[in-house]
Amino acid sequence: MPYVHDTLTRLQKSSPAQSEFYQAIEEVLECLRPLLEKTSHYHQHSIIERIVEPERQIMFRISWVDDSGRVHVNKGYRVQFNSALGPYKGGLRFHPSVTSGTIKFLGFEQIFKNALTGLPIGGGKGGADFDPKGKSDNEIMRFCQAYMTELYRHIGPQCDVPAGDIGVGTREIGYLFGQYKRLTGCYEGVLTGKGLNWGGSLGRKEATGYGAVYFAQNMLAARGEELRNKTCLVSGAGNVAIYTIEKLYELGAKPITCSDSRGTIYDKNGIDLDLLKQLKEVQRTSLEAYLHEHPDAHYISTLDYPQGGHAVWRIQADAAFPCATQNELTESDADIMLANGITCISEGANMPSTKEAVDLFLNAKIAYGPGKAANAGGVATSQLEMAQNSRMEQWSLEKVDQKLKQIMANIHRQCAETAEEFGEATNLVLGANIAGFRKVADAMIEQGV
Ligand code: GLU
Repeated sequence: MPYVHDTLTRLQKSSPAQSEFYQAIEEVLECLRPLLEKTSHYHQHSIIERIVEPERQIMFRISWVDDSGRVHVNKGYRVQFNSALGPYKGGLRFHPSVTSGTIKFLGFEQIFKNALTGLPIGGGKGGADFDPKGKSDNEIMRFCQAYMTELYRHIGPQCDVPAGDIGVGTREIGYLFGQYKRLTGCYEGVLTGKGLNWGGSLGRKEATGYGAVYFAQNMLAARGEELRNKTCLVSGAGNVAIYTIEKLYELGAKPITCSDSRGTIYDKNGIDLDLLKQLKEVQRTSLEAYLHEHPDAHYISTLDYPQGGHAVWRIQADAAFPCATQNELTESDADIMLANGITCISEGANMPSTKEAVDLFLNAKIAYGPGKAANAGGVATSQLEMAQNSRMEQWSLEKVDQKLKQIMANIHRQCAETAEEFGEATNLVLGANIAGFRKVADAMIEQGV
């Protein structure tokens, strides 16, 4: 009865909870076409069918008590997607928009990203539909403790090592780690992104943003260009955006925007980094407060963009660093960016550009670094943290940063060489997907069914 199958397929396809997951799969599978046409090897081992299916998905209830004594319930997830290359590795996202589909999309991307780092880490992801906004420090602590009270039995330094993502920073990792320790009695490297006094790695906080800028540097160098004196658009105002901005300044570029869920700051004199850190890392407040110190900067409310799209992308600049969230850069944004003469895009966020936007960038043959390659510096440095934990060592910032630079250069080289091998030299999306896939698929075949 094919109509049953067709109807179900259509329903699944249109299910908003899974649409991001399908989008991520579609991109990878389309890129794999030339590889799969060359060899039947992967088909013989049903690798495609196996790789799109998580090895394990854990869903759980999180009950916690707010400051007024009321009990709340959230949905918790951990997807252990693929362990062919090492223990599951990937962050935890706490955001009200999180569904099982979001976590599956992120976990799927993580498999290939982690493979590209060349380090022994498999792919996983987790999170909860919890909204940290407006919660007190004690509420955040109780939520993290409740989350770990379920998660601890599924993770461990040799099998699954979570880290941060949107809504989960050093503070949350601290509360999660404390609870893991209380429940297990083990002081071990079960989480990354830890505080520097208790097992964290120097350079981890900065790594995703710095890595995205190093990736842009590599893409531009391959075209005989550099970042110096380039004006840059950055979206987001979290950890990734802040350290992207920091590294751009260090390399002589000028970041002129940042954004949060409520609006965008455009400061043509360059974003005031100290103020941004103060507002977001210390005060945890809205970007609108930026104007108190810089009344000449522009603030564009998200409400002024009812038609969708993003104010950041409408400003003229040379390079762009999407560092906020998935699908934040749409086809109409891409159109305007290209018309404005953008030449380089390096994605600090996961899948920030829609499929249509990516197609436009690829057709225009600009330097375009997809998130799974360009933002791999974060998870790579997490693996460096795991290595330091297992040896009971702490490396210097110089050593970590040197390794990060090397890893980003290697990722760029692999993507570019693989793209070249398949006759599409400028297509780093193709290069990233094929290079990442080959490593994971070969390991799966070698390890048997
Ligand atoms: N959440 C980050 C990512 O998307 C980091 C994951 C990690 O460090 O494990 O890659």
